[in-house]
Amino acid sequence: MNKELANEQEKQRLKDKKHRERQQKIKEAVAQRVAKATEERGVLLVITGNGKGKSTSGFGTILRALGHGLKPGIVQFIKGTKWECGELNILKQFPIQHYVMGTGFTWETQDKATDIAAAKMAWEKSKLMLSDPTIDIVLLDEMTYMVKYGYIDLDEIIETLNNRPKMQHVLITGRACHRRLVELADTVSEVQPIKHAFTIGVKAQKGLDW
Ligand code: ATP
Ligand code: MG
Repeated sequence: MNKELANEQEKQRLKDKKHRERQQKIKEAVAQRVAKATEERGVLLVITGNGKGKSTSGFGTILRALGHGLKPGIVQFIKGTKWECGELNILKQFPIQHYVMGTGFTWETQDKATDIAAAKMAWEKSKLMLSDPTIDIVLLDEMTYMVKYGYIDLDEIIETLNNRPKMQHVLITGRACHRRLVELADTVSEVQPIKHAFTIGVKAQKGLDW
């Protein structure tokens, strides 16, 4: 073997050794963090931001929970009855408590009093779910707007969330989530819009956007 080749092999051997040591350190750090996370309780999750993927993430989590035999509840704020949604065509095959506010997008409607009444009714349905310990996970899709428009009292929302069954998970989706809900939540993700096909003229696509 010539000297150059031997040097190359030695360099590679040292590189591999360093890589193994680095990976081992990462593995130990992850194991330590996993060992520390021992608490078992319901989690409040917020998915907000202007990018696409909030409601699909919420419905995906409901599907994940169903896969483990958990019992979900869903309240859709804003979505109207004329708005089809692929997830529901599947999810309605399961025994899920589900309520749609049903007034259409609020910026389509003209009647504020009707919107407020519809929001309050949807919130009453939410409260029933948030006090029912047999419901393991509650999705409050697009609820952030109800707070933004002042249609539901924020103090009451926070109190209800704080007093919910200990093991119950709650997911809140929607843009512009109020700072106090972000503070209260255990997990918060903000979806950033890097690009969206709609802005370059692609219409909303079945199975992807609804
Ligand atoms: P999705 O339901 O696809 O997960 P989302 O819940 O994150 O979307 P919403 O603000 O509820 O987003 O808007 C719902 C609809 O608007 C969807 O059809 C989605 O594709 C579209 N949309 C979401 N974000 C954007 C965006 N940044 N620009 C244009 N359209 C968007
Ligand atoms: Mg949405």
